[in-house]
Amino acid sequence: MSSKKCANCGRNMKQQFIGLQHCSCGISWMKDTGYFERTGDMVFALERKTIQGKAKQVPVIKYRSNS
Ligand SMILES: [Zn+2]
Repeated sequence: MSSKKCANCGRNMKQQFIGLQHCSCGISWMKDTGYFERTGDMVFALERKTIQGKAKQVPVIKYRSNS
């Protein structure tokens, strides 16, 4: 899988998981979501999901709670 170019600054993004890439300027890209701005309370994880009868690992965004 090739790396995407950042929509904000044009640099090549780094892949963390399949379907999830990050740029050092703070923009991330996720399959089905597209480009978004990362915030400090975002945690990225892989979650198992069954899609069309197949078990797949897909990236999900979780939010750190401050409490
Ligand atoms: Zn960028």
